[in-house]
Amino acid sequence: MAPKEFCKMISRSKPGPGDGGNTGSWRVLRPVIDLKACIPVKMNKEACFNCWLYCPDSVVSKTIPPVINFEYCKGCGICAEECPAGAITMVNEATPIEEDK
Ligand code: SF4
Ligand code: SF4
Repeated sequence: MAPKEFCKMISRSKPGPGDGGNTGSWRVLRPVIDLKACIPVKMNKEACFNCWLYCPDSVVSKTIPPVINFEYCKGCGICAEECPAGAITMVNEATPIEEDK
């Protein structure tokens, strides 16, 4: 067992958007949030935010509704995997988004 003082070690890493470069250019799949299924939107209060918590590039806002910064979202799909409501779907990057239609 490690000496007790080693057990106090924690990560001090605080990655932020853009720390990995222009990761948005890597994206092949794009996360789309179904706001009708998103828990904080449905409850109109701060709740869940797993997408914010688990995004490795910190590109999801902790807001109602959560907003994804597509300049840096690399399309890894972790947010979709971790969303307990199944509110995030990964779609082909070539698919037009609603506002584009
Ligand atoms: S796909 Fe989701 S978890 Fe991955 S970088 Fe984009 S917003 Fe973050
Ligand atoms: S993880 Fe899913 S339900 Fe939770 S805030 Fe993000 S999109 Fe909404």
